[in-house]
Amino acid sequence: MIEKVLMLICDGLGDRPVKELGGKTPLEAANTPNLDRLAAESECGLMHTLGRGLVPGSDTAHLAIMGYERDKYYFGRGPIEVAGLGLELKHGDVALRGNLGTVDDKFIIVDRRAGRIRDAAPFTQALDGTKIDGVTFIIKPGTAHRAGVIMRGAGLSDAIIDADPHKPDLPVRKVTPTAQTNEARRTADVLNKFLIRAHEILNDLPENKKRVQSGQPAANYLLVRGAGQYSQVPGFRERYGLTACCIAGGGLYKGVGAYLGMKVLEIPGATGLPDTDIEAKFRAALTQLENYDFAFVHVKAADSLGEDGNFEGKRDFINRIDQAAALLTGLPEEVLLVVTADHSTPCSQKSHSGDPVPIMYRGFGTRVDGVQAFGERACGAGNLGIIEGKDVMPQVMNLLGRLPLVGA
Ligand code: ZN
Repeated sequence: MIEKVLMLICDGLGDRPVKELGGKTPLEAANTPNLDRLAAESECGLMHTLGRGLVPGSDTAHLAIMGYERDKYYFGRGPIEVAGLGLELKHGDVALRGNLGTVDDKFIIVDRRAGRIRDAAPFTQALDGTKIDGVTFIIKPGTAHRAGVIMRGAGLSDAIIDADPHKPDLPVRKVTPTAQTNEARRTADVLNKFLIRAHEILNDLPENKKRVQSGQPAANYLLVRGAGQYSQVPGFRERYGLTACCIAGGGLYKGVGAYLGMKVLEIPGATGLPDTDIEAKFRAALTQLENYDFAFVHVKAADSLGEDGNFEGKRDFINRIDQAAALLTGLPEEVLLVVTADHSTPCSQKSHSGDPVPIMYRGFGTRVDGVQAFGERACGAGNLGIIEGKDVMPQVMNLLGRLPLVGA
């Protein structure tokens, strides 16, 4: 019987044929003896993560694969990112992502990242706990210039525009409501008051005075975006009865794990970048399967390289995933291994696309088919056929023997 589950999601892994790679996709062109061996021992297929005709975002795609429908459990990127910073969300909170930026005395943006400031903590600490009109602002540092913001109080809404115009040399935006409701108007009003108060507090910080004296841009404005209002999301354990951990480098993916109540593990060397230590992640997952029922492992860089149009870089990064996957070839059949992607990121398109991604299930009870390679076309001939993201967890639960009997 299957007892444990290791789910590996390679971000943006899927692609389209590339002329320069002899008409192969980067995954097909890569040297992948380990992934191919795993595929040969698996039941394979293709997956439209959100269903046919939809281009998945990474956040909605991951939620779909984990069995969380986006119309019920997706409230924008803010709440997921904020969860990834270790902040606990409460029903009704409005969560936003933020950058510490630099503005001049006319509120024109000089630098959206305050000179790519290294440590946001001294600045976010000065703002954390600020109260305005019954709303408490909970602010935590992210990596480098990034921060997470929670607005907590009664009568809030996420129907507001971004304060961040996403470009320098423009004035910061006054936040306005996008719905004609009292909640949206109140949220915009309170947030505008806070952003001005925050600017005053930040300007007065000794850290900023030091930065200015040494010729660095002051971190004197919080540029916020991506508001989302959180409603209760049942955790993985509550939903499936499985204890779960998350092994990821990128903030959004740690966020997905935290958002679903998984234990987010910090793995040294897991960066979310092409230099990430993939073996360290796989090793950590294998170790953690002693402690958890389900390990979610995320590897990011194939997506970023696809967005750069760098098909050789993407192929070479997949080579590295495969080298690390040697660690997975010895998994016992009691561990269900699921390997897939959240979406395709074709190098020719430099963005996510609606092309389905390969998926394999390996472990006891899977109906091993004739697929001999892990690739977009090879997996298309597999037993699973073409599934959707929402089909993954029911299949996992089925192989765990935990699906309820319907009828007698
Ligand atoms: Zn993605």
